[in-house]
Amino acid sequence: MNLFAKLKKLSDAFGVSGHEDEVRELIHEMAAPYVDSCEVDPLGNLICSRGKGPVVMLDAHMDEVGFLVRWIEPNGFLRIAPVGGWDERLLLGQRVVIRARDSRKVKGIIGATPPHILSSEDRKKTAPLEELFVDVGAGSREEAEGMGITIGSPLTIYYPCELLREGYATGKAFDDRVGCLVALEALRLTADERLPYRLAVNFAVGEELGLRGAKAAAFRVAPQVALALEGTVGADVPGIPEAKQPTRLGKGPAITVADRSIVVRPRMVGFLEGIARAEGIPYQYKLPAYGGTDAGAIHLERGGILAGVVSVPCRYIHSPVSLLSLSDLEGAVKLVVGFLRRAQELLR
Ligand SMILES: [Zn+2]
Repeated sequence: MNLFAKLKKLSDAFGVSGHEDEVRELIHEMAAPYVDSCEVDPLGNLICSRGKGPVVMLDAHMDEVGFLVRWIEPNGFLRIAPVGGWDERLLLGQRVVIRARDSRKVKGIIGATPPHILSSEDRKKTAPLEELFVDVGAGSREEAEGMGITIGSPLTIYYPCELLREGYATGKAFDDRVGCLVALEALRLTADERLPYRLAVNFAVGEELGLRGAKAAAFRVAPQVALALEGTVGADVPGIPEAKQPTRLGKGPAITVADRSIVVRPRMVGFLEGIARAEGIPYQYKLPAYGGTDAGAIHLERGGILAGVVSVPCRYIHSPVSLLSLSDLEGAVKLVVGFLRRAQELLR
């Protein structure tokens, strides 16, 4: 399977925070051939490990932003509550997929009041999420419940991943399935190498709700060094000056110097830069200080852990669609493979 096909599988999988079962099963299947053991902790983190000795941890989060059904109207329409940060302007008119009882998938649409009925003033306003509803074609609450929908059923945007053009993929949930893919590829490409440490790869739950899974996993795994892998904000689009673009597409993987959750120690930044230069991998810095990642939670565990972040730039994350350059993804894989081959230098 080529890199895009793997990205598509991961992006299309369902995994709203707290409901990561489907994507976890897929990742488990993809990782199992390249590790000694996989365990699922009580929160739902999937921790895959290989080798012996001091621990080096990779982390990528499986969960994606989405919604929960918060109410079913008597006439069958659903009201929804957000899971993670959404840009509410972008939701009207989107298609959604609900994971109903027994893992049944139900399709729906986020309906809107026809402009014909709105006053000219209301047409200029963004309807708040509170006022939005999901239409699943049910005529009554009973009918919606008969489709397996209950209060708490998770849902997310329906947007199958595809190539926009050669080398550019568009899909949902690149934040952070692209990080999961980087970790899986790094496991595959180093599978036959004896690394002089124990490698533990955490596929985390609950990042979008405050780095929840990674915090618990870092305590359990007790690494000396950790690297979080992310899909991050690519904002090289019209109207945004370069100084405000956290990262740009096609310029290579991004090395974080600081975000709102961590100031990465210069030792780690320099180490990653050194690998990129030695391997001839183009790279960029993620401009400070936008966003936060699992590294923010991990570096505070266990008396402190040396942690860094490598990201793949993705335009339009936390919206129904994202766009990435496969060349950045390939660069991130090379950088992380280089990191694993030399990570023992950080254990001294
Ligand atoms: Zn993320």
